[in-house]
Amino acid sequence: MELKDLYRDVILDHNRRPRNFGRLEHADARAEGHNPLCGDRLTLSLRLAGERIEDIRFEGKGCAISTASASLMSEAVKGKDRAEVRRLFERVHALLTQRDAAAGPELGKLAALSGVREFPARVKCASLCWHTLNAALERSAATVTTEAPEEAPLGPAGRMAGEP
Ligand code: ZN
Repeated sequence: MELKDLYRDVILDHNRRPRNFGRLEHADARAEGHNPLCGDRLTLSLRLAGERIEDIRFEGKGCAISTASASLMSEAVKGKDRAEVRRLFERVHALLTQRDAAAGPELGKLAALSGVREFPARVKCASLCWHTLNAALERSAATVTTEAPEEAPLGPAGRMAGEP
């Protein structure tokens, strides 16, 4: 089986059976994300233990890429702290936007998103959940949209709490 077939199967599987789908009761943080280019909408709810994401759920309606990306992200960030999440987002962002970015082993199943960079219009579908996660970690009530151009993974508004 070719790698790209494997990646496609991972995306299809996570779209058909999204992991961690739903809403957390007693969430410590929530954020909504909207990608007007495609119509993707999602709501993340998090339970935090100090700096660590103890549990995460997402719900919403979107295209296969946005749903699979949120599902993969929810698996990847559970148990990680803010600094680890930030590093992972930087790697995923590079994978989505840089043609020569290699999918290192630290990305795990998130590597399946590498095919998205062949379709620049879909990058925002895949990055929406990560921008929304940043907003949730900041406990911001604001709705995230991806209307702004895709630039650095963490702009001024995406800076995590506790940083200068
Ligand atoms: Zn989409």
